[in-house]
Amino acid sequence: MKIGIFGGTFNPIHYGHLINAEIIRSDFNLDKIILVPSRYPVHKKLDGDVPAQERYAMAVLAVAGLQEFDVSRIEIDREGPSYTITTVEELRAAYPESELHLIIGTDSLATFASWREKDRLLSSVQIIVMRRPGQERPPDMDFGGHIVRFAENPLVDISSTEIRERLRHGRSVRFLLPDQVIDYIRKKGLYEQ
Ligand code: ATP
Repeated sequence: MKIGIFGGTFNPIHYGHLINAEIIRSDFNLDKIILVPSRYPVHKKLDGDVPAQERYAMAVLAVAGLQEFDVSRIEIDREGPSYTITTVEELRAAYPESELHLIIGTDSLATFASWREKDRLLSSVQIIVMRRPGQERPPDMDFGGHIVRFAENPLVDISSTEIRERLRHGRSVRFLLPDQVIDYIRKKGLYEQ
């Protein structure tokens, strides 16, 4: 089985994440995408003060009933900060026969040189990079013989930051993220301030 690992803060999950995950799943012939909500963002401060449990619950709602998608608790159940290498090795143990692909944004690729144990990471997974609107396709990078592939993904200009901002101001977020996630946000009163 070919599995795509798609990590993120998902604060909240939105159609930018979902459209890209689905396009990459199809274009790279992956059987499954595992969404991995992070517990503590290592590289950025968490806005909105929404607990990991809620971000996880929203991701579950977003892909409910879709057999090609799973949401992993692997990072939210871990104490303290998570590094990608730890997550990948746990998923490797859970799916020993599978080919693992790590899906990252161009923003993450830019910091890749400073990632923990990147050489070990590169020998466990193949990397698929997706471009975000406003970011150039980076030049091919030398990953010591490991292939990094760039997705031809559509540029969907939606961000969690924009969604939080709109929610705070009482503006509509319909069609930016799934209705069931919007209903959950309203019911729980998330991102109101
Ligand atoms: P924020 O606005 O809070 O920074 P985000 O949506 O940018 O949120 P994450 O939830 O951490 O951040 O995103 C997870 C991954 O998805 C990252 O690699 C990010 O680059 C990528 N991503 C997020 N939104 C898009 C989008 N609209 N198009 C392509 N990639 C995206």
